[in-house]
Amino acid sequence: MPLVNPLKFIKKAQEKGVAIAAFNVHNLETIQAVVEAAAEERAPVIVQTTPGTLKHAGIEYISACVKVAAELYDIPIALHVDHCPSYKTIVQCIRNGYTSVMIDGSELPYEENVALVKKVVELAHSVGVAVEGELGRIGGAEDGITVEEREATFTVPEEAKAFVDATGVDTLAVAIGTAHGVYKWEPKLDFKRLSDIRKLVDVPLVLHGASGVDDDSIKRAIAGGICKINIATELKIPMAKTIQEVFRVKPEENDPRNYMGAAKEAVKEVVRRKIRLCGCNGLADELEGYR
Ligand SMILES: [Zn+2]
Repeated sequence: MPLVNPLKFIKKAQEKGVAIAAFNVHNLETIQAVVEAAAEERAPVIVQTTPGTLKHAGIEYISACVKVAAELYDIPIALHVDHCPSYKTIVQCIRNGYTSVMIDGSELPYEENVALVKKVVELAHSVGVAVEGELGRIGGAEDGITVEEREATFTVPEEAKAFVDATGVDTLAVAIGTAHGVYKWEPKLDFKRLSDIRKLVDVPLVLHGASGVDDDSIKRAIAGGICKINIATELKIPMAKTIQEVFRVKPEENDPRNYMGAAKEAVKEVVRRKIRLCGCNGLADELEGYR
């Protein structure tokens, strides 16, 4: 089937109290790993790329691969651009068949952020594409930041409501204690804040930086209203480790089908585990057109 707007299945997940797993991909093998595991688990899935990946792989290559994947499998697959700061890149993504976009204006002053997101929402909605916004700052897992400094960047519930009302975003990424990359501290999620945001905001909420957060906290976050979970670093690590291991055992290995094939299988296992953790396995069978 063609790529789909993910909002319908994200809302289905919200209704059921589960979450959709969204995976950052970088090349053919990671795309295959994600869609194969999702198809085996009968899970609707979001395949996503950062603007950096578009630069690395080429937007035409990436979008073509994911479109082919959607045609090959009988599950709903969406293609999403993650943390895109540029209106121009959003337009390029939509022209290349992306069905969902995240506009990240979090570096901008509030009013400018709202204006940019509003402009993206108008464009995206006119062509049936979903929009994820972010309020608060989900930073990197860098060293040397105090808890107070981190908390200062967390999403303020009242501001989240005002932001969603002002922009019309379909989903909202919230900063409640996670960070991107590999944690140098034990991540602690602010569940009270999540519940306060949930009370004020109806749109499905998104959790970024979930790699390294323990399974119980993920489950609690889903129960507290998180409907989409982004997974990036947790796919990169098994991929790199598997390739390292291949070369450790056989330093003269030179066939990419061997080391990339092994890496793909390792990534697939993590994808499968994350889908089950999110509780969206089998959800495709509950969606019209996929039963
Ligand atoms: Zn993120």
